[in-house]
Amino acid sequence: MFDEDQDIKAIREAIKALCLKFPNEYWREKDRTRTYPTEFVKSLSNQGYLGCLIPEEYGGSGLSLRAAAVILEEIHYSGGNGAACHAQMYIMGTLLRHGSDEQKKRYLPGIADGRLRLQAFGVTEPSSGTDTLALKTTARKDGDFYIINGQKVWTSRAEHSDLMLLLARTTHREKVEKRTDGLSVFIVDMRNANGNGLTIRPIRTMINHATTEVFFDDLRVPRENLIGEEGKGFRYIIDGMNAERILIASECIGDSRWFIEKATAYANERIVFDRPIGKNQGIQFPLAQAYAATEARGLDD
Ligand SMILES: Cc1cc2nc3c(=O)[nH]c(=O)nc-3n(C[C@H](O)[C@H](O)[C@H](O)COP(=O)(O)OP(=O)(O)OC[C@H]3O[C@@H](n4cnc5c(N)ncnc54)[C@H](O)[C@@H]3O)c2cc1C
Repeated sequence: MFDEDQDIKAIREAIKALCLKFPNEYWREKDRTRTYPTEFVKSLSNQGYLGCLIPEEYGGSGLSLRAAAVILEEIHYSGGNGAACHAQMYIMGTLLRHGSDEQKKRYLPGIADGRLRLQAFGVTEPSSGTDTLALKTTARKDGDFYIINGQKVWTSRAEHSDLMLLLARTTHREKVEKRTDGLSVFIVDMRNANGNGLTIRPIRTMINHATTEVFFDDLRVPRENLIGEEGKGFRYIIDGMNAERILIASECIGDSRWFIEKATAYANERIVFDRPIGKNQGIQFPLAQAYAATEARGLDD
């Protein structure tokens, strides 16, 4: 059985309380007006939840991935949307694992307390999609700078981020020994770059996800913003994906609990043929199936 320790229980309760301040009407209004939930994100940042995976020495709370997963699960179980800011939790993992001491000291404390928003992830491109190794954005070395040219797409939260983690090609695809070499990761400071070689255009999507396309036109990025070794960026990006997938899966579990509760309440409340529709197996079975599928993960915990 799922046996939560006290810290995890306390986190669940605290997130529930925080989310009560952002009821369904708040989220519906954001959806209707296609606006970013700034107030909600600030509230999470101020209470340190978005910096929960950052070690204490850099100002974070140094919690486990499980604790971070519980935070997002509870947000979604309450009907909220952690996807508006979940990347602030995990994008920094690349910097934490592969950045220099100087880079960690420069960025992590600000990310931990929300002064610096690192929640834009520039990997996907229009022509490469899932085939990341085919990406075409280039970073050419020029003295103390790299010059970036190309385009990214589906770059979520770029308009609500100070920094972007960018994957770009530093060696031509045909000149590398290993297919996975030749790509490098950079921290791009978008506060100075927007309008100076960087253009962000919002994309209207079915969900309110603040996603964009981003164009690089001779954008100059200081050499000191290269993370780790040049040419090894693909591995660094892949390293961060486990945390991302686990955290987003936790949001899905929260969503599932929220939808099952809503559907169950409606099944009990809606009367047709003089009885609640929930008396019918056609309504009961899919709900029971969804409940079992959602809660089955507890058996492995
Ligand atoms: C809401 C949203 C937010 C996003 N946010 C970001 C972001 O912040 N940063 C970022 O970099 N990217 C982001 N993405 C991009 C996302 O990671 C890409 O959509 C993804 O990489 C797939 O690329 P694509 O959409 O071009 O699909 P395609 O590559 O065109 O693939 C289309 C379909 O074909 C399948 N497919 C392709 N090749 C194969 C194969 N060899 N075998 C089997 N199936 C295959 C794919 O699985 C997929 O189902 C976001 C996407 C969405 C929808």
